[in-house]
Amino acid sequence: MIPAAFEYEAPTELAEAIDRLARSGGEAKVLAGGQSLIPLMKFRLAQPARIIDLNRISGLAYVRENGDLRIGALTRESDLEESAVIRDRYAIVADTAAVIADPIVRNLATVGGNVAHADPANDHPATLLALRASVVARGPRGERVIPIDDFFVDTFTTSLAPDEIVTEIRIPRAQAQSGGAYIKLERKVGDFAIVGVAAHLQLDGKGSVATAGIGLTNVGPTAIRARHAEEALRGRAPDDRAIAAAAEAAAAESQPVADLRGPAEYKRDVVRVLTTRALRRAVARAKGGK
Ligand SMILES: Cc1cc2nc3c(=O)[nH]c(=O)nc-3n(C[C@H](O)[C@H](O)[C@H](O)COP(=O)(O)OP(=O)(O)OC[C@H]3O[C@@H](n4cnc5c(N)ncnc54)[C@H](O)[C@@H]3O)c2cc1C
Repeated sequence: MIPAAFEYEAPTELAEAIDRLARSGGEAKVLAGGQSLIPLMKFRLAQPARIIDLNRISGLAYVRENGDLRIGALTRESDLEESAVIRDRYAIVADTAAVIADPIVRNLATVGGNVAHADPANDHPATLLALRASVVARGPRGERVIPIDDFFVDTFTTSLAPDEIVTEIRIPRAQAQSGGAYIKLERKVGDFAIVGVAAHLQLDGKGSVATAGIGLTNVGPTAIRARHAEEALRGRAPDDRAIAAAAEAAAAESQPVADLRGPAEYKRDVVRVLTTRALRRAVARAKGGK
């Protein structure tokens, strides 16, 4: 449980951190909350030669609604939970932050680290897929805005270059008659998901579904966007029949494997049940409920 030896640097400017990362030739890792990286290093599943700590760089932790919603990469989960704008206008994000690990982990873990780590069991990816978010990354060649659909490549693998740092998450501004919810089943409080489902709906003037976003946690090599389930809702009134059809579609396109959290068929059925519940809550919120 003792990490291999490493060099440690704590730059105070983002440009300096990018420069040091670029000059490390792929041997360095950036450190944010350390809630995934440090355990991996202690088990020696990761042995970076150099750690570049982002925690002394100011200006990377914020929540701002500025056209769209912008969340700085170094924003802690506990700050998301407490943010008034998140609680009042982006309830799906508040739902997600509140079920990540436990309060001690949430005081340190960052939203940027959660997406950059790309663990299919992490909770933010499904929600960001449902919301059609973007990830902003900075590297020696400048800034890139990466649509979330292009971000997760495989388990623990993203489309970030080795010398790029996530600086911000962007979420389209919450509109009238829209709402979303994230629901997670866990074995005990603080555990990773058996299954998690994020659902976000935009209703039109007649109350039908204009757009739907559905993301699934821990039932595939990455978080999955359930496109067939989204399609089953588009243009329809979000009634019990439409929701049941979408939930069946989400279960069918999930790719669970059996593990200590249960057999694949059980998880597939949990996808169906949680999709139903998340969509019902999303409809209620889109209509002004909580
Ligand atoms: C007991 C426990 C329970 C947990 N349960 C859950 C859970 O239920 N749900 C959940 O979602 N997560 C859970 N986690 C994981 C936790 O949320 C992690 O902290 C999170 O996944 C990573 O965020 P971090 O800031 O700690 O990143 P770090 O651990 O510092 O880094 C993780 C990885 O991301 C990279 N990275 C970090 N920040 C950036 C950046 N800005 N740009 C580029 N790369 C970056 C690092 O180099 C590293 O490879 C749990 C962790 C623990 C210890």
